[in-house]
Amino acid sequence: MTRPKLRDDLVALEGYHSPQVDVAVRLNTNESPFPPPPEFVEEWRTRVARVDLNRYPDRGARDLRAALGGYLGLPPDRLFCANGSNEVLQTLLLAYGGPGRRAAVFEPSYVLHAHIARITGTGLVTGERERDFHLDPDGAVRLVRDEAPDVVFLTTPNNPTGLVEPRETVEALLAAVAANGAGLVVVDEAYAEFAPWSALELVSGDVPLVVVRTYSKVWSMAAFRLGFGVGPAWLVEDLMKVVLPYHLSVPTQVAGEIAVAYRSERDARVAAIVSERERVSAALSGMDGVEVFPSGANFVLFRLLDLDGHAVWEALLGAGVLVRDFSRWPRLEGCLRVTIGRPEENDAFLTALKEVLA
Ligand code: PMP
Repeated sequence: MTRPKLRDDLVALEGYHSPQVDVAVRLNTNESPFPPPPEFVEEWRTRVARVDLNRYPDRGARDLRAALGGYLGLPPDRLFCANGSNEVLQTLLLAYGGPGRRAAVFEPSYVLHAHIARITGTGLVTGERERDFHLDPDGAVRLVRDEAPDVVFLTTPNNPTGLVEPRETVEALLAAVAANGAGLVVVDEAYAEFAPWSALELVSGDVPLVVVRTYSKVWSMAAFRLGFGVGPAWLVEDLMKVVLPYHLSVPTQVAGEIAVAYRSERDARVAAIVSERERVSAALSGMDGVEVFPSGANFVLFRLLDLDGHAVWEALLGAGVLVRDFSRWPRLEGCLRVTIGRPEENDAFLTALKEVLA
């Protein structure tokens, strides 16, 4: 049998893998542990039942963007919606990356930035975070000045470390891009609602900044696959040229449109998760041999100082608790990441970890 030859630049590429194991307590992919409000689900069902299924969706997702714009206090022409923020990121690199262009990432960070750069043929410029995972703004600015990347990714709160970058760092990166006279800063804010500040306030019509957000986490809507970018209207126009027509299904558009009316329910879920995050962080900090990193997201990264991280991950899995294993990743040696779940799930995790450590 003849097989088509995979692109040479993709041969060494590994796909995305976070095991989807069927266990009692799943705390590995930063989803919300809470379902969306039942009234939302009912409203969505009613709306979807009326849809003409033989027709394509609205290509411009106008109702969704109007509702989301109303919620964010922004005109719809500043919003680009897609299948999860991953598709927003991919569309950004299709538009502004590609062969002969380069994207800067600050590692360790969200693995999909580098991955999407590779699959879109975009070169990579890799900056390093400090040992405690904070980003040194002077070093980051130097990198942008010296390498003049076409796209600069900054994840805040960062995944998988949880650290929140200050506003000054985003401003410094924007200034560096402006001094280069070219480039785009992409602030990935998948977890912004759990954090004390957002770069959304820096977005304007004439700044090369796009803030990328998702419905997957705070809105409890990971199953829908909906994310969005907020940027200047010219950027949205560029992205619309590149993205496939009718990419966003009607059920997804409807879900995103009606969800924003359930803001207070969302805020209550976010508050519950933040309070649990603080409880879990404090409990982890109290354990011998565990280093905990401060988090502004819905997960906590911790390092096992005396034990093999992977062995601990396996032991937790054996106890029915699935967390994310970063222990063999460069820069993240010995680290595991736990998503904040419902209180009883967090208790199950803490109890299992205590037993493993004992
Ligand atoms: N950005 C970051 C930093 C993330 O952690 C994630 C989810 N793991 C995403 C983007 C993608 O989220 P989604 O595609 O579900 O919107």
